[in-house]
Amino acid sequence: MTTHHPIYRGRFAPTPSGPLHLGSLLTAVASYLQARRALGTWNLRLDDLDQQRCSKVHAATIMRQLEQHGLEWDGDVYWQTQHIEMYEAGFSTLQRRTEGYACVCSRARLNTESLEGVDGPIYRGSCRKSTATHYDGAWRIRIQPGQLTLNDPWQGLIRRDLSDDVGDFIVRRADGQIAYQLACVLDEAALGITEVVRGADLIGSTMRQLYLWWHLSDQKAPEYRHIPVLLGADGNKLSKQNHAKSIDQTSPSFNLHQCLELLGQTPPRMLLDATPDELLDWAVANWQPLAIPRLTQLAQAA
Ligand SMILES: [Zn+2]
Repeated sequence: MTTHHPIYRGRFAPTPSGPLHLGSLLTAVASYLQARRALGTWNLRLDDLDQQRCSKVHAATIMRQLEQHGLEWDGDVYWQTQHIEMYEAGFSTLQRRTEGYACVCSRARLNTESLEGVDGPIYRGSCRKSTATHYDGAWRIRIQPGQLTLNDPWQGLIRRDLSDDVGDFIVRRADGQIAYQLACVLDEAALGITEVVRGADLIGSTMRQLYLWWHLSDQKAPEYRHIPVLLGADGNKLSKQNHAKSIDQTSPSFNLHQCLELLGQTPPRMLLDATPDELLDWAVANWQPLAIPRLTQLAQAA
C-alpha cells in the first residue's frame, strides 16, 4: 500500500511598509521550516494593498533580507496589488449572496458605540437594516451566531463566537479597498496554501478568515498555527508602527540563531560560525515544532 502525502504549500506574507524586524524574521523562519520539513513549497506574498504605507523600496529590502538569511522562496513573488480584480470578484460573490450590507457609520459613531472586545472594537450592528446596493463605501459581512473553534497545535484550542466577540466585520473599507481579511482568504485560495504560520497577534484575524472561508469558498481552509509574538524591551509588540529596528543585515547567522532559540530549537555550539544555509539545513533536519513555546507573547532575550 502506498501512502499519499498531501502537498504542503506554505507562505510568508509581510507588508512592505518597512524592513523586516526580528519579530517578522521569526515568523519567516518558522513558516519556512514548517514548509521545508514537509518537503513543501514556501511562497512569498507581499501585502502591498495599502499604498499609503507600502513601497517598492521596502519590498526590495525585504526580499534582500530574506535572501541574506538563506530564506529562498519558491516561484514568483505574489503581489496583492496585482490581484485587485480577483478581490473585486470575491467581494461581488459575497454581495450577491446578500451576506453583507453597506455601513455608513462615521468613525466618531463607531468610537462611541463600539464596545472593546478581545480582538478590538465590537460593531453593534447599527447599519444592519441598510438595503443600499449601489454603494462604494464600507461593507460588512453579516455574522451568524455560533461557536467557531480552531485546534492550533501550538496555541491549543481557540474559541470565538464572532457575533458576540467581534460583530459584523468590514470586508470593504470606506475608501473602497478590499479589507485585509477578505483579500487574505482569496489569496490563500488562489495560491492553494495548505498551512498558514503567523504570529499570535493575528489569532483574531484567523478566526474571521475561517468564517469567510466557510461562507465564500468550496476549497478546504488551510490549517493555521500561531507562534508567540516577540515583545521589545519596552514590553510592546515589535512592529513597524512603533519603529522596531530593522534586523542587522551584517549578522544573518546570528539573527537566525536568535530566531531558532526563540522557537525553542537548540542549535549546537559548533554551528555558531555556520553560514545561514548551514544553519537552515540543520534546522530543517532537526525541526521540533512542538518545542515552540506555547505562549502568545515572548520577551526578547537581552
Ligand atoms: Zn454602520
